[in-house]
Amino acid sequence: MERELDWLKGDMLGEDEMRRGAARSLGVPFVILSREDISPDALTLIPEPLSRAHTIVAYRAEDGTVEVALLDIADLEKIDFLKLKTKPRLTNRESVKLALLQYQKILKEKFAALSQRGVEAADSLLSHALQSNATHVHLEPAAAGMLVRYRIRGALVEAMRLPQEVGEKINAHFKSLAKLFPVSTAFQEGRFKVSPPAQAGHNDEPVSVQVRTVPGVRGEKLHLRLAREKQGQTGYTLESLGLHGGQLERLHEFLDKREGLLLACGPRGSGKTTTLYTLLDLLNSPHLSIATIENSIEFHLPLAAQTRVRPEIGLTIDAGLRALLRTDHDVVMVGDVNSRDTVALMQAAAKRGVFMLGATEDSSLVEGADCVINGRLVKKLCQHCKAAYTLLRDELEMFETGAGPDASVGANFGKVLAALKEEDAVSQEKQWKDLQFYKPAGCEKCDNGYKGYVGLQEVIVAGESGLNVIEEGLFKAAQGLTSVEEAAKVAQE
Ligand SMILES: [Zn+2]
Repeated sequence: MERELDWLKGDMLGEDEMRRGAARSLGVPFVILSREDISPDALTLIPEPLSRAHTIVAYRAEDGTVEVALLDIADLEKIDFLKLKTKPRLTNRESVKLALLQYQKILKEKFAALSQRGVEAADSLLSHALQSNATHVHLEPAAAGMLVRYRIRGALVEAMRLPQEVGEKINAHFKSLAKLFPVSTAFQEGRFKVSPPAQAGHNDEPVSVQVRTVPGVRGEKLHLRLAREKQGQTGYTLESLGLHGGQLERLHEFLDKREGLLLACGPRGSGKTTTLYTLLDLLNSPHLSIATIENSIEFHLPLAAQTRVRPEIGLTIDAGLRALLRTDHDVVMVGDVNSRDTVALMQAAAKRGVFMLGATEDSSLVEGADCVINGRLVKKLCQHCKAAYTLLRDELEMFETGAGPDASVGANFGKVLAALKEEDAVSQEKQWKDLQFYKPAGCEKCDNGYKGYVGLQEVIVAGESGLNVIEEGLFKAAQGLTSVEEAAKVAQE
């Protein structure tokens, strides 16, 4: 057995001979990279951590086509998602090693020049991570210097090692951007937003970066989570639906895990379906198999298998769901969840590893869900004619004491003010009496002072939640997006 493995490794035949043979039989050229000019621009088309993980190297780019050298032709599909037009060539290990060294050289040159300036080094690191399609960046003190690792498609890979002082400057800069204390032994969490330069496939979608500090024996670790505010087929982003701050973080974190049962809950017309489609859009990739079962198909999702229920032929939600679950899907969305039986089916599927999403109008059904998005829509103030005012005495009393004429209002006003400050929507010293609110007026551009709608969402994961929908309404009233009256309507439902 061992002899056989040795032979497979190429020890008897010689690695080059073996790969040359494979190249011949596939009709693909064989290249030795030490004899080719490796173009630095081509090299960086495939992010280094991916090159390393899949031993695949882009070494020349001409007229939109990239020549890539790899050890195993089957690995080509692992970079499908980069959407490069490629001409594959087989190569040997020596060649891949050489190319990986080139990467290190390019990175070193880039970072050495920047080592004096923490700001630019941090910017470069961030754009390198984004180019590499990383969702997380881990900066950890190591035996010598700072170890930087990226999470790419779920796997944590080493990206580079930086000299200690450069690493410290980068950390300090990220912490100042996220408004964290420079020195602290406690866990801290903050966030900031960046607009990376336009790059292939990503336009210039803003990226929200969540920063967490983790105290460790060798020193503090920094964990960054990068979330593109991606706009997909539906034309919506989670931000444009009204999600922000802690709610958005919680939701992204849940989506990253891609497991469990998520239910969007709210009355008819509260944006549940749009929310679910936006989530599917975020998940949509050639590597995942997504299926939906719906009463009516409102959006067409490329790459997803969408089924419409037809009760007249016995294709009910539950029947469709049972059929779907017999096939092999990674993600299944149910448009209308309206019975305990459906929830039970979905829970069972989630336990078997299918990521289940659904929408329901019945709030009593969300009990078994791992993530609940409770949503409402309120009217959006017309930005052309809204009239500013500060809170009236009785409104103020209610806001400040948390108990007004209607103590059952279900909102914690202190929590709303704290959230406004945390997200920099108002400055730290402000009190309710200082805040500007707006009333509808009316102009030729709107309907009695309102135009369109704004979403209010509460995201509950494992019992943990942020602002509830009423508090969200007040948050958005303080941002001038809606009026206090509209927010109050949610409380009266
Ligand atoms: Zn108006």
